[in-house]
Amino acid sequence: MKRALFPGTFDPFTNGHLDIVNKGLTMFDEVVVAIGVNALKKTMFDLETRLNWIQDCFKHDNRVRVVSYEGLTIKACKAHQTQFILRGLRTAADFEYEKQIALVNSDQDPDIQSVFVLSEQQYTAVSSTVIRDLIRHGGDFKKYLPDAVDVSAAQL
Ligand code: ADP
Repeated sequence: MKRALFPGTFDPFTNGHLDIVNKGLTMFDEVVVAIGVNALKKTMFDLETRLNWIQDCFKHDNRVRVVSYEGLTIKACKAHQTQFILRGLRTAADFEYEKQIALVNSDQDPDIQSVFVLSEQQYTAVSSTVIRDLIRHGGDFKKYLPDAVDVSAAQL
């Protein structure tokens, strides 16, 4: 059984994230979407809301599990018995950032392998940050989000 951990904040979970999970499922038998919780970081959506959305997106697919974790991603990998970290790449800036994290992770734990999936062209401009701005200021954000992602619980 090949399993990957897809870590992120998912504040909110977007069509870009959904696409990366679906692409991950073409390579892995199971993808564990792992919501990283940082007590010092204020999010627009609480953890339970984010967990529920992602579970709802994959309610018909038992190859996806949704969990949360605190602390190091490599420890979450151990806890969920995987050595593969799945991440999405939109731009060269993403690549530089992800490369740094991946190198430190594999330096900390040589068993860890990061696997990068390229974003589809139509999702390269989609980021949770931009969507939070659209939500705050009355923009049209719906087309960037899966149907299950209801933003009415936003903490503005
Ligand atoms: P983090 O706080 O770890 O950056 P995010 O929730 O912003 O968490 O992103 C999680 C992962 O999803 C990252 O690998 C990020 O590059 C990827 N990602 C985010 N948005 C997109 C997108 N539109 N297309 C492809 N990958 C994306």
